Amino acid sequence: MTYQELKADEEQYVMQTYGRFPIALDHGQGAQLWDVEGKRYIDLASGIGVNCLGYNHPALTSAIENQIHKLMHVSNLFTTAPMVQTAKTLVTATGMGKVFFANSGAEANEGAIKLARKYSFDKYGAGRNHIVTLWNSFHGRTVTTLKATGQTRFHDYFFPFTEGFDYAAAGDLDDLKSKITDSTCAVMMELIQGEGGVLPQDPAFVQAVAALCRQKDLLLIIDEVQTGIGRTGSLFCFQQYGITPDIVTMAKGLGGGVPIGAVMAAKSCCDVLTPGTHATTFGGSPTVCAAANAVLSIVNDPDFLAQVCEKGEYLKNKILALGSPAIHGVRGKGLMLGIIVDEGQHSVFAQKLISQGVLVITAGKNAVRLLPPLTITYEELDEALAIMKTVFCN
Ligand SMILES: *Cc1c(COP(=O)(O)O)cnc(C)c1O
Repeated sequence: MTYQELKADEEQYVMQTYGRFPIALDHGQGAQLWDVEGKRYIDLASGIGVNCLGYNHPALTSAIENQIHKLMHVSNLFTTAPMVQTAKTLVTATGMGKVFFANSGAEANEGAIKLARKYSFDKYGAGRNHIVTLWNSFHGRTVTTLKATGQTRFHDYFFPFTEGFDYAAAGDLDDLKSKITDSTCAVMMELIQGEGGVLPQDPAFVQAVAALCRQKDLLLIIDEVQTGIGRTGSLFCFQQYGITPDIVTMAKGLGGGVPIGAVMAAKSCCDVLTPGTHATTFGGSPTVCAAANAVLSIVNDPDFLAQVCEKGEYLKNKILALGSPAIHGVRGKGLMLGIIVDEGQHSVFAQKLISQGVLVITAGKNAVRLLPPLTITYEELDEALAIMKTVFCN
């Protein structure tokens, strides 16, 4: 089928909740993708930070293939080795306590919100249930995580939303303090706001928030759905901020392309969710955990993570060295970068880059967002940079 034929059927049969880019993708290899008409692209988007090992990575495809022949799904009424292994790896790598598996980022955040509220209920009784999040954040698309998201444009249509969220300005400790009351049980934040515009938090602010949470026994929830699993050059971004969160959520990169999310809690609160209080049919299936184990066996390695940092620095410096008057800076860490352009121009540049063969996405009001596979090669980066030069310097 050609793109035009597929697009016509898509418009007829698929709910039109996305303004999709005008290509249909067919297959991939490494950090390269081919569309249905045979055109090749360098992928700097990795399915929104999901395909951290790129396409057709032999360790990942064989782990999934071996597992689906053995056992695909059994539900959480039984124990399986792949699930236990994923949890053990995550806990060992971070010094945290225990893990609950979900199927997406929003679901992981739902689990974190429930955990924080029950932690407070168990200890202090009802009424201590508010969660402070940051303006410009993004935490998901369920009715609760939309309300947790600190962007008013997400608070339309779907009333009534879940109550109990208050918003503070990122980097403004006084504002955050003013939002904390006797009703507050947790603070939830991303360390680099992804959808909001690739906006890294100030470490001093984050450390002050962590200290405040400790002092008031508020749980600090770090949403690492986008920043986690090596994306910023450490297994989790919080490890670069000198903090010990109470809860870390993750999803996107964890399965390298299969749907898996997780809530990881510190030892002090990892036994709050008990039988009957939280559950999932699909979460933590042997299939997705086999994929996560393959991903973690590659990404959770100091040399691999050092290469993510090096490639990120290389990409950032080469973009700045283009000297384009259209580029006002590059934000981010590791291989989570935002090229800052004039407000509203990010989607114009994204469309141009895609039509020239470089897949990118956008973030916030002015960022062209780059989330390449962590395994991208320097040759692939150089090819993308040559195309960026023609797009940004003409
Ligand atoms: C993508 C994202 C989510 C939502 O994840 P889904 O898997 O789409 O539900 C939540 N938080 C952050 C920081 C994200 O980037």
